[in-house]
Amino acid sequence: QERLTQLRKKHRITVVGKDVPEPVEAFEQLKDYGISPELIQRLHECNYAVPTPIQMQAIPLMLQGRQILACAPTGSGKTVAFLLPIIHHLKGPRRKGFRAVIVSPTRELAKQTYRECLRLADCYKLKVHIISKVATAINKFGPDSSQKFDILITTPNRLVYLLNQDPPVISLSNVEWLVVDESDKLFEAGERGFRDQLAVIYQACNADNIRRAMFSATYTPVVAKWARKNLKKLVSITIGHRNA
Ligand code: ADP
Ligand code: ADP
Ligand code: MG
Repeated sequence: QERLTQLRKKHRITVVGKDVPEPVEAFEQLKDYGISPELIQRLHECNYAVPTPIQMQAIPLMLQGRQILACAPTGSGKTVAFLLPIIHHLKGPRRKGFRAVIVSPTRELAKQTYRECLRLADCYKLKVHIISKVATAINKFGPDSSQKFDILITTPNRLVYLLNQDPPVISLSNVEWLVVDESDKLFEAGERGFRDQLAVIYQACNADNIRRAMFSATYTPVVAKWARKNLKKLVSITIGHRNA
């Protein structure tokens, strides 16, 4: 227990929640969670030698299927922190439609996350998509499509547009992981915020085994309040200061 406290202190990791697993200081330790040697190898090929503090704590939690609110500075590796557990859980391609959705506040960020995801998901042959044109998406993902896709990375409006068609032209009922990236930005009030859009997406992800994770650079009380209210057995992780 003392050692665990020291370990978290060393990496400036603060956690709030029950039964939180130990941070992993090496990617190899993830073998204990069933992560394949191929995936670990892939991380090394991407020049990710050791996990960053947010990865040390968020990855084991998500691998246990826990819902999290993660706050860590910009540039601290949050993308890999959520992509790795998702890729592990999805294992290989299926014909069940999207099983993971990552919502980003801007198209540029969505594209970056998409590229990072392609690099990592490649070894499992997972099908990763980004919604660029709504018109193409209707044919690509609609009920008459092959349903051979696994991970969706998108800005909110496009996805909501597809969900709001009558009947909806995309189904999220097999989604196992919903990640809200830069949740502080997405939760902003007013025109720039996406509160209403997130509510539509949240409701469309109606599988029994749905898990959600929120990531952001800052700790924001509105996001924290929402997460506490809506996410069962939530664990909050903060790296460094809570710079709200
Ligand atoms: P954030 O989302 O926290 O702002 P990113 O996920 O965009 O940060 O990562 C920032 C940079 O760090 C990216 O170029 C990414 O490839 C790199 N990176 C991520 N994890 C590691 C790691 N474990 N070791 C080295 N570099 C990493
Ligand atoms: P961004 O805000 O960066 O454009 P979003 O995907 O969140 O990214 O927003 C795209 C916007 O364009 C949404 O408001 C969406 O409803 C609208 N849109 C895109 N294509 C069409 C279309 N073919 N018909 C109607 N609305 C569309
Ligand atoms: Mg990020």
